[in-house]
Amino acid sequence: MKKKAPLVSLEKREWCYVMPPSRYDVAPCECGNHDTQWSEYKEHLWCDVCKIDFIPEHWGILDGPIPFNLTLMLGISFDRIDLKTQQIIKVEDYAKLDNG
Ligand SMILES: [Zn+2]
Repeated sequence: MKKKAPLVSLEKREWCYVMPPSRYDVAPCECGNHDTQWSEYKEHLWCDVCKIDFIPEHWGILDGPIPFNLTLMLGISFDRIDLKTQQIIKVEDYAKLDNG
């Protein structure tokens, strides 16, 4: 199945997770490359092989709900990098913010 990426509203990403998309079981690029990067655009990944931003078929464990304790056991971190300041935002910190 070929899906064309919509050419609308490419919003710049403000943060990304500290680990690459493959660690979260996010779908690979159409070319079969699993070793993708977080795109500079929201909802997109970057394929180094095709040199394209693309929308993966699914977001793996990020589609949630996430069994949080399980991911900790697997050594998966949900810490984020603020792309403006390059600072790491710990999951405990932004989770607190999200819950008010
Ligand atoms: Zn590719």
